[in-house]
Amino acid sequence: VDQSDEAHPAAAKPTKLPPGVVLGPDGKPCRSCSSGKAFKNWSAMMKGGVATSAVVAAAPTAESTPSDCPPDVEELGRSTWTLLHSITASYPEKPSPELQTDTRSFLNTFAKLYPCWWCAKDFQKYIQEERHAPRLSSRDEFGKWMCEAHNAVNVKLGKKEFDCSKWEERWRTGWKD
Ligand code: FAD
Repeated sequence: VDQSDEAHPAAAKPTKLPPGVVLGPDGKPCRSCSSGKAFKNWSAMMKGGVATSAVVAAAPTAESTPSDCPPDVEELGRSTWTLLHSITASYPEKPSPELQTDTRSFLNTFAKLYPCWWCAKDFQKYIQEERHAPRLSSRDEFGKWMCEAHNAVNVKLGKKEFDCSKWEERWRTGWKD
């Protein structure tokens, strides 16, 4: 992540952050932009005053994290993809021109408001590229477009690509036997 002042002018210089902690626009560590483990390491450091290997080793795991904490970058991402793919699953087969305009506008606004700023920046860039412009003329087109957009993030993160011919089974109809 490019955390330079040029890339993110509002961010103040960190003192000493554990790897994986990303700063927010206020210059403070941003939970929804950082991995849960990294954020907890930072939190433990702040409480203890120093980063020691004992603090890092003792950082809570996903299993020991209470479920009612603000989301980290992974949890936010999973919930958001669930919403986005579910929206494509309930999208009409033949959407009106007005709905297509509203949906395009929703995606542009979503890309500006997504709480992980560096994820949002990349997503805005992605949808602004002509070859990646949202395809909204039918449910299948929109579902496949969303799948491809999700795959672009998967590739960026070094994850396996999803087979987009199966988007509807995953998000609408359920798996065939
Ligand atoms: P997720 O990637 O969240 O996927 C959830 C489920 O969706 C999977 O279990 C699978 O069943 C299904 N799935 C997977 N791929 C596809 C696909 N292509 N089409 C349909 N279904 C699929 N995280 C970062 O660290 N850096 C980023 O820059 C970043 N950008 C993001 C941008 C957006 C718009 C969003 C919504 C999230 C972003 N994330 C980013 C979060 C990241 O994509 C993951 O959500 C997070 O890492 C958790 O991943 P996961 O492996 O649990 O599954």
